[in-house]
Amino acid sequence: MGFIHRVSSYLRKDRFQVPPQDERIGKIDEGALSILSAFRREGKEAFVVGGCVRDLLMGRIPNDWDITTSARPEETMAIAGRQGWKAVDGGGRRFGTVIVVVYGQNYEVTTFRREVYGQDSHRPEEISFSDTLKEDVSRRDFTVNAMALDRDGVLYDYFDGLSDLEHKRLRTVGNAADRFQEDALRLFRACRFLGQLDFMADSSLVEGMKSAFPRVSGLSLERVRDEVDKLIVTSHAARGFDLMVRTGLADCSCRAKEKGIFTDIPILPELSHLVGLPQQKEFHKYDGWYHTLAVLEASKPVLVNRWAAFLHDVGKGMPGIRAVRKGKLTDYGHDTKGAEMARGILTRWKRPTPFTDRVVWLVENHMKFHYFANVPEADGLKWIRSMARNKVFSSSRDMAEAFVQMTDLGNADIIGCGKELSDTEGHSAFGRYMEKLALSMPVSTHELHYGKEVPEALGPYVAEGMQNLLLRVQNGNLENTPEVLHEAAIRYKRRRDNEKRNT
Ligand code: ATP
Ligand code: MG
Repeated sequence: MGFIHRVSSYLRKDRFQVPPQDERIGKIDEGALSILSAFRREGKEAFVVGGCVRDLLMGRIPNDWDITTSARPEETMAIAGRQGWKAVDGGGRRFGTVIVVVYGQNYEVTTFRREVYGQDSHRPEEISFSDTLKEDVSRRDFTVNAMALDRDGVLYDYFDGLSDLEHKRLRTVGNAADRFQEDALRLFRACRFLGQLDFMADSSLVEGMKSAFPRVSGLSLERVRDEVDKLIVTSHAARGFDLMVRTGLADCSCRAKEKGIFTDIPILPELSHLVGLPQQKEFHKYDGWYHTLAVLEASKPVLVNRWAAFLHDVGKGMPGIRAVRKGKLTDYGHDTKGAEMARGILTRWKRPTPFTDRVVWLVENHMKFHYFANVPEADGLKWIRSMARNKVFSSSRDMAEAFVQMTDLGNADIIGCGKELSDTEGHSAFGRYMEKLALSMPVSTHELHYGKEVPEALGPYVAEGMQNLLLRVQNGNLENTPEVLHEAAIRYKRRRDNEKRNT
């Protein structure tokens, strides 16, 4: 069924302000519009397609403008050449795609394609050119990603994507089970789009997922990680993770290749025990899973903060942690246990060590931060000093950054218990105080404020002397200023000389 909208007056305006046809043309990016016009003049069909059309109809700003055309790559190259545009053929890895540069911006212009899937869990076995737009959009994953727009603003919508868009519904193009089995990465893309678009999964999509789970084992860790990372920073990440965990997708394993050997990498099975996990009512409005999701969405949408929020309570409810004390549910030690589990997850996901260390530190210390923020007698300075001495962070700037992230986590944790934004004020103030303290606390001798007179004054004792000065600054016994450090260095040398003479 070819479904082409030439009029759009019937569109429901209550959900999205879908632009009428005339307005759509104006909203297509200028470079893309020039490409569509040039192809039209040369007798070729060309459309903007996929994510950019979806975003435009939703009133969002598209990331990039993909173009699909009846022209073969060599024809695209020739048309671009005649326009004086630079064009590069994507070659084997990017079958049928030519990058065309217009007004300094890159556009991917891809010939209509069809794809046949086989053994591989993600990549098609065969790709060939096709002659119709309809065939090209049929291979795309979701109905809202399968719409195309021509240079006159006419929308080509063969799978009712517009209706799904208006209902905020994610639905596969064609049979969900088949589409997920073809390319199992679409399972993760589905979760990501729920978070990105604030959509609900259509029941047909959910029902079609399970049969493709065996295919997840053939996906590479890199691809899964990329999708999950994209999802975790979206504004409605809870939607995507709820689908991932409740359907059991999170319990599947993908794979990583190391020294030629594949190993299974479980995705996120550690999270499913939180679903329905009861929590003590006075402190918590939600069960463990909804609390986690609420904290996730309340945290700042950057990777470190989001991963820390996502994993902050993962230790709750674990054997040896969950207890009933005086008739109340408790999870003492869930921070330490959670930190251990977070390290396990992030290490197996092959994240860079500094990233893992930071998330683990946040999970491990989130209860301590709450305690310090809530109890006036708790000595924040003592905490900072002990961390500086123990070299938990490589610089005071690093330590300060960690406290900014911790404040975000602490506040998100409060919101995730069903409290108000105003309830986070105390935590925010304490966080700012800790950040300031951290910035003024040297972590290494490089952060001592001294000139060359200090090492000169220490003479043969320079290494141990500098460590001594650092420790005394960290303990609050010396000021971190050139004059004070110089004097202390002179005294240190004198004392050591004396000691030497007396032994
Ligand atoms: P984003 O806003 O994240 O860029 P997008 O929809 O543009 O979202 P891309 O991954 O850039 O997503 O892909 C561009 C288009 O290509 C999609 O809209 C979809 O039509 C199609 N597509 C991409 N990946 C797949 C896939 N794995 N299976 C089917 N179609 C896909
Ligand atoms: Mg895109």
